[in-house]
Amino acid sequence: MDADTIFAVASGAGHAAIAVMRISGKECRRVLAALCGQVPPARRMSLRRLGDLDQAMVVWLPGPGSYTGEDSAELYLHGGRAVLTGVADALVALGARPAEPGEFTRRAFLNGRMDLTEAEAVHDLIAAETDAQRRQALRQLDGALGELYRGWSDRLLVLLAEQEALIDFPDEDLPPEVEARVQAELEALRGDVAAHLDDDRRGERLREGLVFAITGTPNVGKSSLINALAGRDVAIVSATPGTTRDALETRVVLGGVPVTLVDTAGLRDAIDEIEAEGVRRARARAEAADVVIVVAAVRAGTSCLPRNDVDAVAKPRHDDGGSNCIRIVNKIDLGGCVPPGTIGVSALTGEGLEALRARLAGTARALTESSGPPPLTQARHRAALQEAAARLAGAAIADLAELRAEDLRLALRALGRITGSVGVEDILDTLFARFCIGK
Ligand code: GDP
Repeated sequence: MDADTIFAVASGAGHAAIAVMRISGKECRRVLAALCGQVPPARRMSLRRLGDLDQAMVVWLPGPGSYTGEDSAELYLHGGRAVLTGVADALVALGARPAEPGEFTRRAFLNGRMDLTEAEAVHDLIAAETDAQRRQALRQLDGALGELYRGWSDRLLVLLAEQEALIDFPDEDLPPEVEARVQAELEALRGDVAAHLDDDRRGERLREGLVFAITGTPNVGKSSLINALAGRDVAIVSATPGTTRDALETRVVLGGVPVTLVDTAGLRDAIDEIEAEGVRRARARAEAADVVIVVAAVRAGTSCLPRNDVDAVAKPRHDDGGSNCIRIVNKIDLGGCVPPGTIGVSALTGEGLEALRARLAGTARALTESSGPPPLTQARHRAALQEAAARLAGAAIADLAELRAEDLRLALRALGRITGSVGVEDILDTLFARFCIGK
């Protein structure tokens, strides 16, 4: 496959002034020469006439110093459909073929231009909706996560080399100070991996976005609150794809984190089967919510909350542990008192909404911010790290150099799968299929 020269429009779909066509592969120089008469000087923007197709800015990017590591080119074409199909047809006639999703980045990985965590970061950076997501993806793209794992791999390699030396000289007694040093280093490594894993899924949560479930009896003003939160200063990021779920879920940005607000009120009345499925999914998401927002309301003519509502806002749900639960009393415009530990708001007048928004943003940040080393961002990383941690634990209690060496090798393999330095063929297809064409 990599013998092919591939091309794709790398800029967004739709009518645009300029569209960027990317070309990469062994035949790139010949294709480019045929297309624009003469290959322009390397890495310099040159204005070229592409036959009767277009007049375009062209950059020749010879490998191996290109994004893919191969000979590559970029054409800054006029974005009209006739231009793009004309150039695509010409490229096919010259022997190139349209790229698969993610194929440029896949080649970059296979040619050693980036490791798998960096390739994943390319995808995350393109998908990033908020500042915090962008910063996390960029840090990973800079190689911070890969470096962390490679640092651990290097330390493991030193340990492994020592064990293998012992296997080669089985009769020589292991000096006790060597065993003590090996144990200390194994312990230190296990501590580092465990600390990295024990992060409350901060990186994954930021990457995937948080879910805040809104609960409360009918008519307390849940929908009004969601509208108030989504409608004003808070940007609506995107509608969640799906049918019934659209009505139940609203995406907002709180504290730089994408948050899906799930209105559990709509979860009660499913009419048909499709809707029932939507309700089932929304309910599952609400149950796994990162934060539960419990809403009660002041009733007209009462000086305080009805007893049931006080219970509803003041009692933690059985599964929220109390920590990620935010309690709200709505309709304070009707008067009444607000129990301690709750936030009084009026979705109608807007009173208290600023404080509520600040509280929600603070909670979103607290659940996703990480200081220190870069956080792991994918379940894939987590699974491999758990495997590495288990192997390190095995190595610590192994009583033969051979067994310990085997555990260390397996720990190394697990770490290597994250960066892509070992045995990744099986995951490449799933990983790059998620990319857009042209990346
Ligand atoms: P839900 O069933 O919990 O989603 O409640 P809704 O958002 O549909 O609101 C129920 C009723 O309460 C509607 O008539 C709203 O106009 C009203 N309502 C919502 N918020 C407020 C508020 O802050 N003050 C007052 N006075 N009425 C409100």
